Amino acid sequence: MKIHEYQGRQLLADAGIPVPAGEMVQGVEEAVNAAQRLFDGGAELAVIKAQVHAGGRGKAGFVKLVKSVDDARAAAEFMFGNRMVSPQTGAEGLEVKRLLIAQGVDIASEYYLAITVDRARNTSTLIASSEGGVEIESVAESNPDAIHKVALDPIRGLEPYQARALAFKLGFTGKQVGQAVNVMIRLARLFVESDASLAEINPLVLTPPDDEHPHGRVLAIDAKFNFDDNAMFRQKAVAGMFDPAEENQAELRANEFGLTYIALDGNIGCLVNGAGLAMSTMDIIKLHGGEPANFLDVGGSATEEAVREAFRIILSDDAVQGVLVNIFGGIMQCDTIANAIVVAAKEVGFTVPLVVRLEGTNVAAARRILDDARSEIPTMVTATDLTDAARKVCAAVAVPA
Ligand code: GDP
Ligand code: MG
Repeated sequence: MKIHEYQGRQLLADAGIPVPAGEMVQGVEEAVNAAQRLFDGGAELAVIKAQVHAGGRGKAGFVKLVKSVDDARAAAEFMFGNRMVSPQTGAEGLEVKRLLIAQGVDIASEYYLAITVDRARNTSTLIASSEGGVEIESVAESNPDAIHKVALDPIRGLEPYQARALAFKLGFTGKQVGQAVNVMIRLARLFVESDASLAEINPLVLTPPDDEHPHGRVLAIDAKFNFDDNAMFRQKAVAGMFDPAEENQAELRANEFGLTYIALDGNIGCLVNGAGLAMSTMDIIKLHGGEPANFLDVGGSATEEAVREAFRIILSDDAVQGVLVNIFGGIMQCDTIANAIVVAAKEVGFTVPLVVRLEGTNVAAARRILDDARSEIPTMVTATDLTDAARKVCAAVAVPA
């Protein structure tokens, strides 16, 4: 599960990590008022930031520094009025429904700091770099030595000596070291306590020295979190931050019916039971030159209603030019699927080719149901095995570019 930056900043602040003040707004007037409050409170700089579940906002023009209420208004109008397109959004971009209006800060240097799960090491790992503010993937390519990694002990977490050593490597000196260590230790604790799978501050910044802070201040000015969905039952506060408006609507609908659905780029819709079978179905489609349009696993014991919903979801994708149903009936009974196909065909109407391969429990009954319904589903073809099914569906759709 993902959350917005403004929610992430709240988590950081609650964990004792210094974050500049800010407010989330949902309209231009609200944005103007929030900026006014910041300037009235003595801020010289404000930053207007689009709140969407994608990064690369800075380069896309959706993070704007402003020094007046008029400029804040212009930035808010631009962000609410245009879709944000960045390398992380796809060409169609994202609609912006929320903005963060935050106090702007002067920056002496930017750092990258994140904790994520390192599957190769079976542990969570802190990743840090003095090359912050840019995408960490590009640093990894151009200057891998600038990235430092520290494996975290599953019980003891991040130890103070590890944090100190890292702070020195990043180039912090004097009173900055204690501040950086504080951020790292608290972030590591927050990561575990909130069941996060990613907690990223990019950039963590150092401000220039001033009278009050002769060594500068270490602040988090961006926050990105992902959480383990399986832990949300015990993370009520985090779960409450879920914003359905930012999710793929078809994936949300599928979730409600207990279906696992992931939209992909191809043109062959797949309806399969079991994640392993879904993977091998996608593999065999690719082997025969096709491209799957989705990954849809109805699970081992889906009801006819859920299967019908699965067809609705697949067929609502305009890119789908053909559907492959591949069911191995174990707990799932083939006749349930066959009935659902017939009902869905009547209800939604299959105009695209439908290739069906069924095997397992009640397969004979299922074949009879499909045979009896042939006149109602003229585009249906049955397949004898998986290879036959893949060949037939690939032949029925346009060759992907
Ligand atoms: P992202 O591009 O989506 O990751 O958005 P960020 O919140 O990381 O902002 C992008 C960049 O804008 C940062 O790396 C900074 O260089 C700049 N920026 C953001 N907030 C401030 C601020 O308060 N002051 C200054 N001077 N720059 C900022
Ligand atoms: Mg950032």
